[in-house]
Amino acid sequence: MLSEKELGLYARQLGLRSWGPAVQEKLKKSKVFVAGAGGLGSPVLLYLASVGVGHLTVCDPDVVDISNLNRQILHAFNSIGVSKVDSAKRSIQQLNPLVDVRTLNERITDKNSMDVIGNCDLIVDCLDNFETRYVVNRVSVERRIPMVHAGVSGFGGQLTFLQPPETPCLACFMDIKDKEETNYIVGATAGFIGSLQALEAVKYLAGFGPSLKNRVLFWDGLTMKFDTMNVKRNPRCGVCGTA
Ligand SMILES: [Zn+2]
Repeated sequence: MLSEKELGLYARQLGLRSWGPAVQEKLKKSKVFVAGAGGLGSPVLLYLASVGVGHLTVCDPDVVDISNLNRQILHAFNSIGVSKVDSAKRSIQQLNPLVDVRTLNERITDKNSMDVIGNCDLIVDCLDNFETRYVVNRVSVERRIPMVHAGVSGFGGQLTFLQPPETPCLACFMDIKDKEETNYIVGATAGFIGSLQALEAVKYLAGFGPSLKNRVLFWDGLTMKFDTMNVKRNPRCGVCGTA
């Protein structure tokens, strides 16, 4: 049963066709693991909290630096020097105190990944490096936890929904050696792609389709062009392959 407060808080989405209390209860029971509380993690966590996802785990090893503030809108000047996960929790609870927030102030590695990610319904990849993404991808494949992947740099980014074996895994179509991410970015780029990432997460948790399964969406903010590329499982993939 939703409380009076919840009915008020979520009123403007509860009225959507095919939403209603049943979908809201589903979101309330959902557990989402968000890897990274930076440029992508900021809009993802804020929108997942505001929509009423009941259980959020935030994992990030870093502390807030002044150079983060052009894009990482979870954090403000008074959070400089504070761990990103504590700063994130504070912002999330100001926005929606009904959400349960678990924080993990650590780097995800091959050794700890299974324990750190634990049991959740969905992983959202808001990381800034492919090494850790590959570790998280492996957990997604082995535990069969779907993952919303996104990446951004400069004025653009990409996004896809991964749920092997129904879709490829990240390693099927991205080579870790090919990817060198730059640190230079316009904040609104991360805000936009992170918002789309949150929407894909909400659609999956609520049971609305279709999603970006087997498609990668590319967006260029300079030309304002969207493009999608179909992707397939690689039977020889070192992570999810069967060959
Ligand atoms: Zn694969």
